[in-house]
Amino acid sequence: MTVCMGIYEELGVRTLINAKGPSTRVSGGYLAPEVLAAMAEAGGACVDMAELQAAASGAIAAVTGAEAGIVTTGAAAGLLLGTAACVAGLDPLRMSRLPDTRGMKNEVVMVRSQRNFYDHAVRTAGVRIREVGLPDRFAGAGVRDAEAWEIAGAISEKTAAVVFVAGAGARPALADVVRVAHAANVPVLVDAAAQLPPAENLRAFVSAGADLVAFSGGKAIGGPQGSGILAGRRELIMSAVLQTLDLDIEWEQWRPPVTLIDKAMLTGVPQHGIGRACKAGKETIVGLLVALRRFVGEGDENRRLRWHWLVQRLSERVGGEIVGGRVPKLVLPVTHCGAMELCVALQEGEPAVQVDPSRAEHGEIVINPMCLREADIEPLAARLKELGL
Ligand SMILES: *Cc1c(COP(=O)(O)O)cnc(C)c1O
Repeated sequence: MTVCMGIYEELGVRTLINAKGPSTRVSGGYLAPEVLAAMAEAGGACVDMAELQAAASGAIAAVTGAEAGIVTTGAAAGLLLGTAACVAGLDPLRMSRLPDTRGMKNEVVMVRSQRNFYDHAVRTAGVRIREVGLPDRFAGAGVRDAEAWEIAGAISEKTAAVVFVAGAGARPALADVVRVAHAANVPVLVDAAAQLPPAENLRAFVSAGADLVAFSGGKAIGGPQGSGILAGRRELIMSAVLQTLDLDIEWEQWRPPVTLIDKAMLTGVPQHGIGRACKAGKETIVGLLVALRRFVGEGDENRRLRWHWLVQRLSERVGGEIVGGRVPKLVLPVTHCGAMELCVALQEGEPAVQVDPSRAEHGEIVINPMCLREADIEPLAARLKELGL
């Protein structure tokens, strides 16, 4: 803590109390001492990066049930690498040509209601998104969304993958998407960036048949802000890792770990691939793996209790209502000024505080405990009181 304050002070950058949750904009969460220590230790030695990713693959396979996995620089990087793997397969020539996908399978099918700004990462691999379905349930004009038969109808010889964005409201069900995609021999790539907790979701999408699943490491897992996981089928993971590793090496000298990369399946050493721009460093890989171990070890119920305790303590000082769910949150009504006005005052004040503004139009601010610490409660309560809550 003191070390962090020191460096940010030196840089003239304010630290803030993060009551918003692990958003990238506010630097994710904070790292547990055990994760920080492992990252510092990782930075103090040199290793073969393919060997380190192979070790990560074993650890990720064990907790996800997937055949293999790698550490990425975020879920978005996982979407880019996963799409590139579906397009290029194990062909080094194709890998070299990306994002020029002429003559390759260069479309991905997505349900229209699942389109979001992160699919830029999918498009970065050089594919066009083919949208499916008319989600009239959102307009209140109807009850339907895309259906599995519509996805089946959009799949053609140009389809590299079906991309599915997981979430409580995602339609059709993943199992149905997998059924029609696999019937046409097309892999399914799942964006599960923010689907943790529950920890069982580490396995759920793989067991529903997804071929690749991308998770964010900087959200609930508590890994480095710029980390993530891509888990899935062995050959697709092999393609993904080949397109992000530095392979500036001669064929004879190249001795990749066979558990991750089977040299016998390749015609040559791939060149720097499309994922080379989002390489995961050793500190990131080690930090993610230690955080993942802690995340699984703590368990959902202990985690929920820890978060609940934090919002409970705050609520004793400032009132509000704790709403349940996997992440208990404190909802505070704002009556004496606009809720968005209050959010701005909080972020501009001292100490700077970021809260969740998603209910501002309903006259409420939301306190998310995922990135709060015990030591934040007192200054946070004092600041909220100062602003009239
Ligand atoms: C957060 C998020 C991402 C991006 O995750 P990063 O780990 O920050 O790259 C992608 N998709 C969805 C749905 C997300 O919520």
